[in-house]
Amino acid sequence: MSQLRFNALKEVFRREPVKVEIPERLSRLYNQNVFSDETMKEYMTKSAYNYIKAAKLRGEKIPREIADQVASAMKEWALSKGATHYTHWFQPLTGSTAEKHDAFFSTTEEGGAIEQFNGSMLVQQEPDASSFPNGGIRNTFEARGYTAWDPTSAAFVIDTTLCIPSVFISYTGDTLDYKTPLLRALQSIDDSATEVAKYFDRNVTKVQSTLGWEQEYFLVDSALFNTRPDLQLTGRTILGHSPAKGQQLEDHYFGSIPLRILRFMQDLEVECMKLGIPIKTRHNEVAPNQFECAPIFEEANQAVDHNSLLMDLMTRVARRHNFKVLLHEKPFQGVNGSGKHNNWSLSTDTGENLLSPGKNPKKNLQFLTFFINTIKAVHDYGDILRSAIASASNDHRLGANEAPPAIISIFIGSQLSGVLDELEKVTEGKLSPDEKTDLKLNIVGKIPEILLDNTDRNRTSPFAFTGNKFEFRAVGSSANCAEAMMVINTIVSHQLKLFKKEVDGLIESGLQKDEAIFNVLRDYIKTSRKILFEGDGYSKDWEKEAAKRKLRNLKTTPEALKIEKEQKFKDVFIQNAVLSEVEIEARNEIKLEKYSTLIDIEAQVLADLARNHIIPTAVIYQNKLIENVKGLKDIFGAKEFQELAKEQIDLIKTISQRISSIKVAVDQLNSEKDKSHAIEDSQKRAEAYSNKVKPLFDVIRQDVDELEMLVDDEIWPLTKYRELLFTK
Ligand code: ADP
Ligand code: MG
Repeated sequence: MSQLRFNALKEVFRREPVKVEIPERLSRLYNQNVFSDETMKEYMTKSAYNYIKAAKLRGEKIPREIADQVASAMKEWALSKGATHYTHWFQPLTGSTAEKHDAFFSTTEEGGAIEQFNGSMLVQQEPDASSFPNGGIRNTFEARGYTAWDPTSAAFVIDTTLCIPSVFISYTGDTLDYKTPLLRALQSIDDSATEVAKYFDRNVTKVQSTLGWEQEYFLVDSALFNTRPDLQLTGRTILGHSPAKGQQLEDHYFGSIPLRILRFMQDLEVECMKLGIPIKTRHNEVAPNQFECAPIFEEANQAVDHNSLLMDLMTRVARRHNFKVLLHEKPFQGVNGSGKHNNWSLSTDTGENLLSPGKNPKKNLQFLTFFINTIKAVHDYGDILRSAIASASNDHRLGANEAPPAIISIFIGSQLSGVLDELEKVTEGKLSPDEKTDLKLNIVGKIPEILLDNTDRNRTSPFAFTGNKFEFRAVGSSANCAEAMMVINTIVSHQLKLFKKEVDGLIESGLQKDEAIFNVLRDYIKTSRKILFEGDGYSKDWEKEAAKRKLRNLKTTPEALKIEKEQKFKDVFIQNAVLSEVEIEARNEIKLEKYSTLIDIEAQVLADLARNHIIPTAVIYQNKLIENVKGLKDIFGAKEFQELAKEQIDLIKTISQRISSIKVAVDQLNSEKDKSHAIEDSQKRAEAYSNKVKPLFDVIRQDVDELEMLVDDEIWPLTKYRELLFTK
């Protein structure tokens, strides 16, 4: 093994940056491989194009004959791009994207061959779904699901395949993917937010949720990656002593991007441009070899697809540059993990950002309405936001003093806190003319148009208002953002419906519209106080304070997923037609299952590494020491020998102790793993993995990491942290 490590290191030292063709203007590549609006106009009749537009805007159905026209246009375009196959491209709950390629090629009755693709092929495809997770929705005898075209997200060509963004549904009609409930949640918030936005502007007919994600990741040289079975099999290093130099100096964050990595980023950006992913920023992150990229924000469904596509692309492009992309939330202990900030907002078809303060009191009242309703939604349903981001890998990151805590709270900054304090003082019921003027001029009127004040930012909050959007920072780097987006949009939609009802009720009872709105908002501020927190989210004090406020601190995935089974949280999805009871239960089951499986795999990898790689290496080194001691004994007299061999003998003892301690812990690990595995109930099984199996990882790791410090570097089998993190 150590040979593999040293050969890999030699290989890395010989690496040169890979040349990348960069066109004069990146913008010229934009959407080159996308069946974009512009391309559609070019390839389709105006009427067919209008159907697609209507489907996008209002969710209208596309008639069969139009689907045929679209399919034919899509085929012509895809063939012109060199495509030979098509696939429905979908996002099953496994967490990656899935494809099943079918050739356009088809034989004719006359014995010839043609390229064929029609409406029914576009609309529906039947991959054998039996191997995708379904949480018991489908019985195995009907182990089939189908994928169906999502016309609201653009089709694209990768290599020689036309990819058609699709939903994935079982034959019983239940969802088996990330996209379907997201689309339903987006429909829900469109309906409810449009109604509320009409209080302020009658012309609004549609509200879209927007998403701008920021993707963090690590890069590791592929040769080094291949020397680490833990990275290969679990995406993270299960073992490894921290390097002498970690991220203490934070010199990486401010440093220039190393050339090999820059070439990778440029190559990725070229590919992103062609596929219509509007990548805008790139930079180093806090930890060594950690980076981030972010696009210009887009409509949420499109943005989610683009993020999934980006994660695929990164992996492909990295191969050309001899890198492996690590999307795991915590690939290395002791250095920062990776997240995926989800910047979220709502925008109208009149071109307004509903979370952006404006030039006049009316615009600001609109802003306050959406702002305070979001706070209220997170106050009432924050726990379900926590479950939305729960995963075995994200557990390593949340609350680890570098990432937001597992406690959900909102940061809004001092300016807006002041505004809420003032609003809370508004009198109940009718307002006097003086009060109205005062409100308009001095409170609502004083919200500055631009709140983007960088000095007033709190990096420790999981859900922060950042000037004209909320930023959900607890999302994991490997997650599909659909889940978080589905939940945020559902709970805010739910809240906006309640708001509308209350305001309309007050208007009916004789209040003016503005009075009614102020009254309801004032009550929301009063009842939502406990979710607002401006202090240091990483501190122990906050944990205590949050407990006093009765905010839940759901530290592990099984704890967080248990929430999904509470009636209150089920209801919010059911009432807003986002998920059915069966779907909620199935998805919960899948997540628990995935958690247990991942911990089980990690346990197996750890046991194997400890037993078959680490212990034998320690024994080899120990034998060397024993030989040395024996030699000393041969040469020197008893007294001198004891003096000279003392250190070696101590070392031999320490190594023995470590070895036996590892052996005991690994046996215990295997036995706890088997016991957990045998538990029938998925919630209890996940809890056993979390409480009984996982804690042993640390015990074993501590001994192994100590051995790493004792054993001769020349024979250590696992590539070390300093080599993984600092070899460029
Ligand atoms: P940071 O300081 O956190 O890096 P930026 O101001 O650079 O933040 O923006 C981060 C992300 O927020 C970008 O991806 C951007 O597109 C996105 N964003 C900006 N405005 C909106 C919005 N209205 N809705 C959703 N995302 C937005
Ligand atoms: Mg950010």
